[in-house]
Amino acid sequence: MYDYLIVGSGLYGAVCARELTDLGKRCLVIEKRDHIAGNIYTKVVDEVCVHVYGAHIFHTDDQAIWDYVNRFAEFNNFINSPIANYRGEIYNLPFNMNTFSRMWKVATPEEARAIINEQRREVRGEPANLEEQAISLVGRDIYEKLIRDYTEKQWGKPCNELPAFIIRRLPVRFTYDNNYFNDRYQGIPVAGYTALVESMLKGIEVRCGVDYHEHKQELDGLAKQTIFTGQIDEYYGYRFGALEWRSLRFESETHAVENYQGVAVINYTDAEVAYTRSIEHKHFAFGTQPQTVVTREYPLAWKQGLDAYYPVNDDKNQQRFQRYAELSKQENSLVFGGRLGEYRYYDMDDAIKAALTTIDKVEG
Ligand code: FAD
Ligand code: UDP
Repeated sequence: MYDYLIVGSGLYGAVCARELTDLGKRCLVIEKRDHIAGNIYTKVVDEVCVHVYGAHIFHTDDQAIWDYVNRFAEFNNFINSPIANYRGEIYNLPFNMNTFSRMWKVATPEEARAIINEQRREVRGEPANLEEQAISLVGRDIYEKLIRDYTEKQWGKPCNELPAFIIRRLPVRFTYDNNYFNDRYQGIPVAGYTALVESMLKGIEVRCGVDYHEHKQELDGLAKQTIFTGQIDEYYGYRFGALEWRSLRFESETHAVENYQGVAVINYTDAEVAYTRSIEHKHFAFGTQPQTVVTREYPLAWKQGLDAYYPVNDDKNQQRFQRYAELSKQENSLVFGGRLGEYRYYDMDDAIKAALTTIDKVEG
């Protein structure tokens, strides 16, 4: 008999498994994919470490979380400085003095602020949605060239129907600083994320290629408690209706050139280009190989059978999620966790923090 069945070998499941094992608990991790590490899975293709489910840059402001991940992997000093391509015009991200000077030919913070202040006047009161929030942060010009179409591709709905918090993820600064994140610590595991998760799962039994729902009865009998990191709506048979998720399709190519796009991440912010991002993976590791792997990321609506990547946390879906969450409170040997289990837009550091909190709760 196992003490814990952990469904899902992503970051959340792996942290739970590590912590519980270190507390002397016997854990079994099952994973429906044929590999561990969930969406942070990396694999070497044509000698390049490829982020198979989208680009992942680790960043955190929390020293304890940074120390925690560094127990399992060595990190490099990569700083994410993506660029935006709007119909061939190139802008620096996140929104900073480089962006403003390119957009408006201004040079000083005062000039940039004056333009933004003028443009944001159209939004009165508290921003009620992503469109109003974006205009109130950076003005209409930047909203139209760098935010509106990208966001509508990414989320599949108009910006005035999306929650404001999504755009508040991005820094806006009046300095010439292209670092995409404000956090103190940032980097990419030198040996890739799969090695990091492998190291977390060292000595723990993991069975890949096992879907919980196909073996529920047998698996439930194996352990005293379950930590479930798959979709909560799927767990309950979609009885209150499916939650809305965004899925992704990735198209990768190897090019026989050393440097294809000059940067790890390009965001395509106009509506003509169907993909949102183009990733040149070698730049995450400062690679010098003669060839390069480039991946285009196409967002699409989730439906059963596809992988769920992003929760669509608007009011309607949050209310539906609350019904599932209420139901889950009646479980006494089952907890839900992670992006899919909690329907939360967790970054990696948040996922680790949440997993550590869960372990404190179940074992504290
Ligand atoms: P997951 O990684 O999704 O793991 C869940 C696991 O459960 C999966 O392996 C799945 O196959 C398995 N599973 C599900 N259902 C079942 C079942 N029925 N039976 C068995 N197994 C099952 N965060 C950052 O901090 N920085 C970034 O740059 C960043 N970039 C991102 C880019 C993209 C495109 C996406 C989608 C996310 C990004 N994130 C980033 C967020 C990051 O991916 C998550 O924080 C992290 O992966 C969450 O881990 P998790 O364990 O909750 O979920
Ligand atoms: N965003 C945008 N233009 C960009 C980059 C981001 O409008 O060039 C918006 C978009 O709505 C996106 C949100 O900001 O969903 C958050 O961006 P982030 O890069 O954090 O998204 P993620 O990496 O989670 O996909």
